[in-house]
Amino acid sequence: MRFQHAPDAHPMYQHVFVTHQQLAKLLIEHPAMRPNLQQTFSTPANSKNKVYFMWDFVLRTFPHLAAQVDPRDPISSPMFSDVVGRAWQAKFLTIDETGELNKMNASVGYSDDNGVEFTDEIKALANTLDNLPDGCAGCGKEKRDNGKLLMVCAKCKEEKYCSTDCQKKRWKSHKRHCEPAPATAA
Ligand SMILES: [Zn+2]
Ligand SMILES: [Zn+2]
Repeated sequence: MRFQHAPDAHPMYQHVFVTHQQLAKLLIEHPAMRPNLQQTFSTPANSKNKVYFMWDFVLRTFPHLAAQVDPRDPISSPMFSDVVGRAWQAKFLTIDETGELNKMNASVGYSDDNGVEFTDEIKALANTLDNLPDGCAGCGKEKRDNGKLLMVCAKCKEEKYCSTDCQKKRWKSHKRHCEPAPATAA
């Protein structure tokens, strides 16, 4: 894949984009993908195994990101929470050791999972998919311009901002999700 994200994309967008791109590359280089390499995206796979499943799953996250998430203000795009949900799901299915993915695959007629395992490199990367950087919700900066710590939304205490500009920019979208933080037990 030779897609690139916008150079000024928000760090959270960049994180999701780059980790998914790297994971798709590792998956396609996995030996279990060899029988499928001659095929196009839309034809059924020769070997329907879990590596193929995850590759397909990871690639399908890109259209959501590319078409429906604003790279500079991802958190304000309703689709971004779906994308993060997919990232979490991809991570869970890849690192899970209880056989969830095998069961799921078996239930949809995938039958080539015998002896197929993800590499440690794939698992380690999958583990970071939903690990979003914790910066300004508006622009991604990790500090205020004066070097001080980010401001925190006074109501929910979840979103952080580098400036009142970023806070204002986010409010239109954030007010729909901003819930008062639970009172801490006295
Ligand atoms: Zn900011
Ligand atoms: Zn808030």
